[in-house]
Amino acid sequence: MFYYADAVAKLIEELAKLPGIGPKTAQRLAFHILRGSKENAFSLAKAIVNAKEKVGYCSVCCNLTDVNPCRICSNPGRDPSLICVVEDPRDVAAFERTKEFKGYYHVLHGAISPMEGIGPDQLRIKELLDRLHKEELKEVIIATNSSIEGEATAMYLAKLIKPLGIKVTRLAQGIPVGGDIEYADEVTLSRAFLGRREM
Ligand SMILES: [Zn+2]
Repeated sequence: MFYYADAVAKLIEELAKLPGIGPKTAQRLAFHILRGSKENAFSLAKAIVNAKEKVGYCSVCCNLTDVNPCRICSNPGRDPSLICVVEDPRDVAAFERTKEFKGYYHVLHGAISPMEGIGPDQLRIKELLDRLHKEELKEVIIATNSSIEGEATAMYLAKLIKPLGIKVTRLAQGIPVGGDIEYADEVTLSRAFLGRREM
């Protein structure tokens, strides 16, 4: 990268750290930014700083939020007897789009993966258990992905939650095996919700 000015090389280096961005794409993005208006570049930089400064974790559901508790947790119109457990904030967005689910969520921020060295302690499982002890719940819907990691996480959670006397359900199949919830269409997700089975 020595043939670029330091500032340009630095920009490419930072962009290349983003997921799915290889060195070539990083260069393309960097030159796109440099060729564009100052206004656009500043607006991008400001959006990154702003999001990073204002967004944190909801103290209840662990979703990313700019108000605490988040807008879903502070909505009294939802069903407090239901919690849907998901891996990722993007899954919350996917379920919200279906308008099928009226309960609350809990975001784990990942799934158990011994291969990647991710154990239960790296996920927001302790926070979930604290909630289950405090809140009056009828059902926990485990909506982790249908990947090996997602299934392992579901089994692990079911083992922890069932002894508390709370019904544990898993989304119906329909989401392709290994498929990510965030990419499932709304009809498939709604069906998976309605057809959920007790674990
Ligand atoms: Zn929340």
